[in-house]
Amino acid sequence: MTQKILIAGAGFAGLWAAISAARAVAVAGKEGEVEVTMVSPEPRVTIRPRLYESLLDNMDPDIGPLLKVVGVNFLAGWVETIDADKKEIVVATMAGDRATLSYDSFVLAAGSRLFLPNIPGLADHYFEVNTLDKAQALDIHLQALAARPDTRARNTVIVAGGGLTGLETATEMPTRLRAALGDNADIRVVIVDTADVIGAGMGSESAALIATALGECGVEPRAGVRVTAVDGDGVTLSSGERIEANTVVWAAGMRASALTAQIPGEHDGLGRVVGDQYLRAPMAEGIFVTGDTVKAATDDRGNYNVMSCQHAMSLGRVAGHNAAAELVGLPLHPYSQPKYVTCLDLGPWGAIYTEGWDRQIHFIRDEAKKIKQEINTVWIYPPAPDRDAVFAIANPDFVVVP
Ligand SMILES: Cc1cc2nc3c(=O)[nH]c(=O)nc-3n(C[C@H](O)[C@H](O)[C@H](O)COP(=O)(O)OP(=O)(O)OC[C@H]3O[C@@H](n4cnc5c(N)ncnc54)[C@H](O)[C@@H]3O)c2cc1C
Repeated sequence: MTQKILIAGAGFAGLWAAISAARAVAVAGKEGEVEVTMVSPEPRVTIRPRLYESLLDNMDPDIGPLLKVVGVNFLAGWVETIDADKKEIVVATMAGDRATLSYDSFVLAAGSRLFLPNIPGLADHYFEVNTLDKAQALDIHLQALAARPDTRARNTVIVAGGGLTGLETATEMPTRLRAALGDNADIRVVIVDTADVIGAGMGSESAALIATALGECGVEPRAGVRVTAVDGDGVTLSSGERIEANTVVWAAGMRASALTAQIPGEHDGLGRVVGDQYLRAPMAEGIFVTGDTVKAATDDRGNYNVMSCQHAMSLGRVAGHNAAAELVGLPLHPYSQPKYVTCLDLGPWGAIYTEGWDRQIHFIRDEAKKIKQEINTVWIYPPAPDRDAVFAIANPDFVVVP
């Protein structure tokens, strides 16, 4: 009987899990005996790391041809239920029906979503840049501002969250606002964060550069404060300050896909399943967790993956390989990704490229910006649909960041 591997999600982890599983099946000479199927709303990878940009072109490349050449089936739908005991999932298909699918191995690669805290007015008055639809909605809103009366609120954007996504969104925003409202508009962009120093998470050296970049880009920092209320005309901060703004972008926290709650076992504060070294969910036989849905050790020095494309592309390869390896009798591969880099875009100022968990700065400004552009336009895009070439880089020990 054919064995079945199901993969939920067509993001960075899901794509590489699917290719890696198909590769392992081929390596074991078991093609035809194991079926690999990806389930996701569309056979497209959303290039989420670019959704803060002003031009939203080519942000969800089609992976249909790629899945086809590596022999992976695709079912368009949303996974609704995971039954770890029965080894079944229920899918609400895009065709409008419900399908129950059984599996021998299941890989959860359903990513993450924005976490909205319970702040009065926030749920009714926020924008975000986590999905293509939401990023497009923000763009449409910004373009439409020009038709409104010229007020302080119209001309102001508040970005809540001084992490990487918030900083990238905020430093790009003055250029976007000027493009929408004209060079002479009296625009204002404010970034708000609860940390005492904006960008502190990037290390003190980077934080100093970030302060300079914010100043040069024309972004006002508000550090050490919380947003306490939001309405259509602005926000109130915990300091008591009121900032008039028609646009609030929320970038202050993520949570793993809600599907993780259906997988038994330990979860971390972000809702991620704590995986073992092979990315198995330890309490659910046959289930693997990957990308933004797993917390896994990246090395033996106490570091863990963060929700990032960089980790997802490696975690995906390992989970997909192991999901197939268990079925076809290949050795399982332990996840390890000791090298960690960050490349933070800071708008017209440039970028900061760091290496290591202690974030040593290697390149700044234009030099780092070139690396960022290379990452964003080449490295993270799905490869061309060439079976041999793709299998050659789908091995579980492939180093994503050399
Ligand atoms: C603005 C922004 C900037 C970022 N910048 C960086 C950066 O500079 N560097 C970096 O490394 N990372 C960055 N990230 C993070 C990175 O994009 C994510 O960590 C990465 O996308 C995670 O990959 P994933 O495959 O786990 O999940 P995703 O890419 O989110 O893919 C999840 C997939 O699962 C599908 N799915 C969801 N629910 C279901 C369901 N119920 N059933 C079936 N399918 C489902 C989705 O449609 C999608 O196809 C950024 C993210 C954002 C939003």
